[in-house]
Amino acid sequence: MKNFIIPYAFLLLSYFSARSESNIETTQLAKNLYKIRVYSVNIVALVDSGGVVLSDAAFDDAGDLIEAELEKLGYQHISCIINTHWHHDHCGGNKIWGEQAKIIAHENVVEMLSTHRISEYWQEEYQPFPEHALPDVTFSNFLTLDFNNEQIELLHLPNGHTDCDIIVYFKNANVLHAGDLLFSESFPAVDFENGGNVEQFAWNLQTIIEMTPPDVKIIAGHGPDFTREQLIEYRDMMISTIECIRREIENGKSVDEMKKADILKNWAKWEKGKFTREYWIEMICNCMKCYER
Ligand SMILES: [Zn+2]
Repeated sequence: MKNFIIPYAFLLLSYFSARSESNIETTQLAKNLYKIRVYSVNIVALVDSGGVVLSDAAFDDAGDLIEAELEKLGYQHISCIINTHWHHDHCGGNKIWGEQAKIIAHENVVEMLSTHRISEYWQEEYQPFPEHALPDVTFSNFLTLDFNNEQIELLHLPNGHTDCDIIVYFKNANVLHAGDLLFSESFPAVDFENGGNVEQFAWNLQTIIEMTPPDVKIIAGHGPDFTREQLIEYRDMMISTIECIRREIENGKSVDEMKKADILKNWAKWEKGKFTREYWIEMICNCMKCYER
């Protein structure tokens, strides 16, 4: 018997690597900083005299698209890749540019990328990355990188979307790349089989809110950019939905009863595609391990 709720798994097939949008779009964020949306994934490119620093590298087969986009900006050489976490829609480019670029990530990413992994809930299979595509530089809590015109602060926020999420703060530009600690259009995906947890996720959003100035621009892993105010609203949505479900669990309600009663109907605006209210009830319950109750 499975030790978590899985009825939606077949519908959520491949969401971590979703390719619902087929094009690429670049937006300038600051003098030397660009957001590149490739398929559904947002990556950030810092262009520096020493080359391009990518915060996330999208899918491995998006390499040509990204290179063409960088060429339009007048840059070709990717010298550094930062992985916000281990999911392959964010680190696939490691395989393409890992020989030439230094790869930086949280220390847990190495094991996640170098081993064969299966997610039962998300119905995903992950093949191990080759040696050259694994991180060269890892850290456990905090790392600062200095470039000509920018200082980048990397901070590990544990057990949110995964157990190896980092946020990437471009200090001078006042732009923060949140990776998958932000799905700005919907309830978030949570990789609870690999250390992700909804409650700590909400705490991690609180950390971002506390560490950033009010006018920070926040780039989501998936979805449109956020202001700090919008992130506060998103955090509130997470805390309220978690509390709502906690109360129902304490009242002895089952997952099916909660779904039937549509207990999250007040948060319908955060539904998008497969990230339905029913999905979010399941995910919170999985993280709270209410299947054991
Ligand atoms: Zn992810």
